Amino acid sequence: MNYVLFDLEWNQCPQGKARENPRIPFEVVEIGAIKLNEKKEEIDTFHEVIRPLVYHKLHFRTREVIHIEQTELDHARTFSPVVRDFLKWCGEDYKFVTWGNLDLIELQRNMDYYRIRNPFPRPLFYYDLQKMFSLLYDDGKSRWSLEDAVEYLHLDKTRPFHRALDDTWYTAEVMKRMDLTEVSRYESIDYFQLPATREEEIFCDFGSYLKYVTRAFETKEEAMADRGVTSMRCCHCGLPVWKRVRWFSVGTSVYLSLVQCPRHGFIKGKIRMKKSLDGRVFVVKTIKEADEDSVRMIREKKESMKNRRKERRRRKKIR
Ligand SMILES: [Zn+2]
Repeated sequence: MNYVLFDLEWNQCPQGKARENPRIPFEVVEIGAIKLNEKKEEIDTFHEVIRPLVYHKLHFRTREVIHIEQTELDHARTFSPVVRDFLKWCGEDYKFVTWGNLDLIELQRNMDYYRIRNPFPRPLFYYDLQKMFSLLYDDGKSRWSLEDAVEYLHLDKTRPFHRALDDTWYTAEVMKRMDLTEVSRYESIDYFQLPATREEEIFCDFGSYLKYVTRAFETKEEAMADRGVTSMRCCHCGLPVWKRVRWFSVGTSVYLSLVQCPRHGFIKGKIRMKKSLDGRVFVVKTIKEADEDSVRMIREKKESMKNRRKERRRRKKIR
């Protein structure tokens, strides 16, 4: 299996958000990619600038950041033939590697716009190297810019940043220095192609935790009324569990719950509501062992949310 590292540069509507085409808010103007073999040795590169067909002129910010001349764009091929060549170039047996989760989404959104058949498997697993970098060198939650990661690893900054092939090259250099054995099981799941039906919903066992990705629902309330969304089981043995703290919301898009497995102790559930590209919501649920601290944290949060509700009700009465 090869690794296909890639990076896109994209343009946005030069007249501002109000005039943009919502089906393609970011139009790809450059693809850079590097293919590595299993030993992380470079075996091929792909690079092409793309002539935009939706936003012909570059947004001033895009021009500032990526330094592509308008004339270079005007003489380039358009997205469809370039991406067809790119997909062919990727080959048969490969895994995508990107810095962050945006490139894979925008690649597919552009493919969708130009009616290019999406050949990727569902679910599509890939390496978000930005996430893996954080898991390896930081708290797993922070997100470092590529340039900061390059500096952290003391790599020479011999090439400019923010051009697709250069950024891919830096991503490859960072990847070559990362020991992926520990973090490779924390693959990411692409959220562009969501499950269409309940049967297609995604379920992953990452060893230390379980992850579910659902189909899209019209509203949060509809999602929370779905038995599959709220059901819990032990992440170690899969057996049914005792409810300890029922699902409650923290903020607008996160829900927590606590259960207990007769054999494995406390297990926490976390639901994150995410917006799908068509404006609906889907759920990413994780089920994980809960240590003493998180058990206490969940109980305290529940208590404080309850008190806040009480307080609101009391104030209403007074008024
Ligand atoms: Zn268990």
